[in-house]
Amino acid sequence: MKVLGIESSCDECAAAVVEDGKIIRSNVVATQIPFHEVYNGVVPEIASRMHTEWISGVVKTALSDAGCKPGDIDAVAATTQPGLLGSLLVGLSFAKAFAYSLDKPFIAIDHMLAHLYAPMLSENVDYPFLGLLVSGGHSIICRVDDFDAITVLGTTIDDAVGEAFDKVSKFYGFGYPGGVHIDRLAKNGDSNAFKFPLPNLYKGEHRYDVSYSGLKTAVINQIEQFRQTDAQGNPVALSPENIAASFQKTAIDILLRSLFRAIEDTGLTTIVAGGGVAANSYLRQCLAERKDIRCLFPPLNLCGDNGAMVAGLGYKYLARGDRSPWTVTASARVKAFKRRYP
Ligand code: ATP
Ligand code: MG
Ligand code: FE
Repeated sequence: MKVLGIESSCDECAAAVVEDGKIIRSNVVATQIPFHEVYNGVVPEIASRMHTEWISGVVKTALSDAGCKPGDIDAVAATTQPGLLGSLLVGLSFAKAFAYSLDKPFIAIDHMLAHLYAPMLSENVDYPFLGLLVSGGHSIICRVDDFDAITVLGTTIDDAVGEAFDKVSKFYGFGYPGGVHIDRLAKNGDSNAFKFPLPNLYKGEHRYDVSYSGLKTAVINQIEQFRQTDAQGNPVALSPENIAASFQKTAIDILLRSLFRAIEDTGLTTIVAGGGVAANSYLRQCLAERKDIRCLFPPLNLCGDNGAMVAGLGYKYLARGDRSPWTVTASARVKAFKRRYP
């Protein structure tokens, strides 16, 4: 079965055709990054307008890349939550109209469940496992019992991890999106140049939570306080590379501390990562070093937003006989999970 997946929740206008939830026949991602870069962040009004202009061409290209005519598609899946409302509505409206006109099922997709499905396009994983969903808007550690059944164990109590990368990068002028530039700069920096504190979140309901506002403040407003000295007793260089490496190490260590705690407590040793921050090289390196766990990452081109993960997850619903009502609408936030999400 061929599913057309449409993703427009943020600044990527994307569509893909995926067969049987596994075989990617096409995957078109038209990024708006150059148009938002000048503002150092996504401008919602620009995003939704560009989706409106691009969506039809992006879907057409996804179909032709896959060698499909519209009638060859068995179902249409689109992201309906969470994200920028205006942007979500463009993809959702297009998908519903496309499916309705062809008399095919429409399937509403949760963006974070789609990120979680990205590594499963190429690998098979047995449930249950731990999910690590880390992106521009979310930082979630969850227990995953099925493709649509997650229990949030921990999340951020303030900023998301990707958001922290973006804000630090914006302040220092490293570039947008922040994670990409910080990861690049960090490769030539000393991660011990600045010793930033970790948040004090060990107890009770916060056992698996993370927090980034303290780190953000330390890096942006108090950096001199955390500057280390070299062997000769001279202060280390206040270079972009050193700032990036030290910030990145702390930001990822915050995540790992909560994740490792969840691994210990649940006994689950399979981790599936997803979202833009799953592209981070230091995160991947740290998890690869733990030989007692199996960690699956999406390929780099499927960490960020894309239509393939939407189409792949759409197939799972379709195979179970599900379809969404035509009345389904978009939602900026999500309320249907057991703990805070987002
Ligand atoms: P959400 O998925 O929460 O709705 P989003 O869709 O905007 O938010 P994604 O597109 O999944 O987020 O990911 C974008 C985020 O990933 C940005 O915050 C970006 O800085 C971050 N990012 C991208 N590459 C890297 C990297 N190599 N290291 C760290 N962060 C990265
Ligand atoms: Mg994006
Ligand atoms: Fe995303």
